Amino acid sequence: MAADIILRAERLTRRFGKFTALNDVTVDFERGKLTSIIGPNGAGKSTFFNVLSGSCAPTSGRIVFDGADVSGLRQHGFAHIGIAKSFQITNVFPAFSVLENVRVALQARVARLDFWRRRDALGLEPRAHALLQMVGIERHAARPARELAHGQQRALEIAIALAADPSLLLMDEPTAGMSPEETRTMMDLVQRLAQQRTVVLVEHKMKMVMGISEHIVVLHHGELLASGTPDDIRANDEVRRVYLGKH
Ligand code: ADP
Ligand code: MG
Repeated sequence: MAADIILRAERLTRRFGKFTALNDVTVDFERGKLTSIIGPNGAGKSTFFNVLSGSCAPTSGRIVFDGADVSGLRQHGFAHIGIAKSFQITNVFPAFSVLENVRVALQARVARLDFWRRRDALGLEPRAHALLQMVGIERHAARPARELAHGQQRALEIAIALAADPSLLLMDEPTAGMSPEETRTMMDLVQRLAQQRTVVLVEHKMKMVMGISEHIVVLHHGELLASGTPDDIRANDEVRRVYLGKH
């Protein structure tokens, strides 16, 4: 029986001038699973991420989401069909409170319908609190977003992404620039999020994702090097060579 595929990358290629950053990559992402995309620096992970999240058009190939070809959609179209990516830092309003930031994101979803209603009537505030609790920064709800520590800012960005209730959440190196403690907190959060929805995580550090991922995709020089369970990947000689070798 075929697995339930929520997202299919079909022969995706992305060129920048003469340079091919992503070369003919085909990957099926299973619904409900946590899939990590790993690879050395320059492997094409972010390019793949940007193509999958609609912020970079593929040069060729198709993206199929829930059975429909969405290759031609622009970024806002992707959000509309249920694909959200975190770390759109521009979505955070530094002067707004943490709570307001999430409330605005929730409101964006219902704004047109409920424009004339009082905001409390929408029940957005309790939902905003619930999302902040989910990502672990509820105690900072009243503070201006700019006062948050780095790890907390990233948690806020995830809460904002979750406000759209996406069925697929894409994250590109969520622990970049984090302290070891912030990193642990973030990876715990990623794991919790993955219990409720499909998560695709891009990560440079292989060790970090081995324990929590159900499936791993390895890119190298823009090409698909390997795809399988963490055990498959651990046992793969080519993957070892790439990670031990220069990059
Ligand atoms: P990773 O995220 O795995 O480190 P990237 O996808 O960011 O890799 O980059 C892969 C390759 O594509 C790199 O050699 C990078 O220089 C190149 N690249 C990425 N984006 C662009 C761009 N907008 N223009 C030109 N080259 C790019
Ligand atoms: Mg990258």
